[in-house]
Amino acid sequence: MYSAIPVESKATLMQIRVFDIALALIIMPVVLVLALVLGPVFLVKQTANPYLALCYSLCRIILGDKSFCGLNDKVDEVGSSVILKPALFSFQELHQTIGCIEMTNRQMIRYHENNLSLKMHITLMLKCITTRCLYKNKGEEKSEFSLFNIKIHNRTLQEAVKEIFSSDGSRCRSVFFVNVNSINLSFKNKHLTRDINCGDLVLADGSGVRLGAKRVNVKLKDNVNGTDLLPYICEALVARGESLFLLGAAPGVAQTAANRLQDQYPGLKIAGVQHGYFKPKENASVIEAINRSGASILLVGFGSPIQEKWINENKHQLKVKTALGVGGLFDFYSGRISRAPIWMREIGMEWIYRLAMEPGKKFERYVIGNPLYLFRLYFSSRLKSKGVA
Ligand code: UDP
Repeated sequence: MYSAIPVESKATLMQIRVFDIALALIIMPVVLVLALVLGPVFLVKQTANPYLALCYSLCRIILGDKSFCGLNDKVDEVGSSVILKPALFSFQELHQTIGCIEMTNRQMIRYHENNLSLKMHITLMLKCITTRCLYKNKGEEKSEFSLFNIKIHNRTLQEAVKEIFSSDGSRCRSVFFVNVNSINLSFKNKHLTRDINCGDLVLADGSGVRLGAKRVNVKLKDNVNGTDLLPYICEALVARGESLFLLGAAPGVAQTAANRLQDQYPGLKIAGVQHGYFKPKENASVIEAINRSGASILLVGFGSPIQEKWINENKHQLKVKTALGVGGLFDFYSGRISRAPIWMREIGMEWIYRLAMEPGKKFERYVIGNPLYLFRLYFSSRLKSKGVA
């Protein structure tokens, strides 16, 4: 089974194996003591003893059929990697919590296989521990809840993709992403709250909304932002033979993004592109061009609150299945703005990179907006959960 692994990877795997065994042997006595001392408490509560489960996992790590870092053993792709093992901490867990990786699960596996090192192994573990401490949430997995009077649907990436394509075509469905910026904007702009609440699907984007969900005792299934969703949408479009229309960003940007997407997803049909700086009197012809193109999915990248307003005002005339408000997505996919390194995105710190890239434009959004959001989250009386089980 391991004959296909290159020699240098075998050396790295050996280092990781030695690290895993050493760490498991160091932790094991502590966990065993905790399992025995706290055992009666769990017996009284009639709940499983997590320390016993951990002991079992540590034994599996020592025996070599599990690792501290690697694949989430709940996902189908276990077995599709000869290098990565099921693990206590997985990059899928990080991806689910933080998002912003713009890779499918399969692409993530290849990325981690190709960049495997002991340093990466340890860093991944530390990142998982940090994010578990920050975002660990015993709340309910409600299918819908409300944060600052904005409704949010709790979906996995796969569920979101299914809903995006589920339309029968009788009307255009709208999909919005709620993040810290859109929540802050909604305090100043009441129309934005109304526009977002008109969405057929409103998805939780970013670690700020995850903290918000935790505050109202809701456990988020996934971090579902446009960047992470797009690879899945493109794969679904190719499989279905349907096409995409890109509307928004400065002239030329959407076309470059379209070219790059077609390179990445062979067979992807781009029905058309249109920049986002057309005059109001040109609106009718833009809608006509979208309808004539035959696209089934429309991405609208005007940023908040313009895209939410535009989609709501025009969805009754649109013949696409679904229109999604995707913000600055085309700027990233065209390469006009570079993404933060994956390690930064994996710990939810992409905003620091974006601030460094465009300090003037992003100062208010991040330096003022992030603390303001946290302040509102912990002190505002407007925060409430109207969850639907
Ligand atoms: N934009 C546009 N038309 C407008 C205003 C903005 O197409 O009238 C584009 C802008 O060029 C950029 C995107 O909307 O590509 C907004 O990006 P931003 O990073 O602000 O959005 P975010 O993703 O943060 O919501």
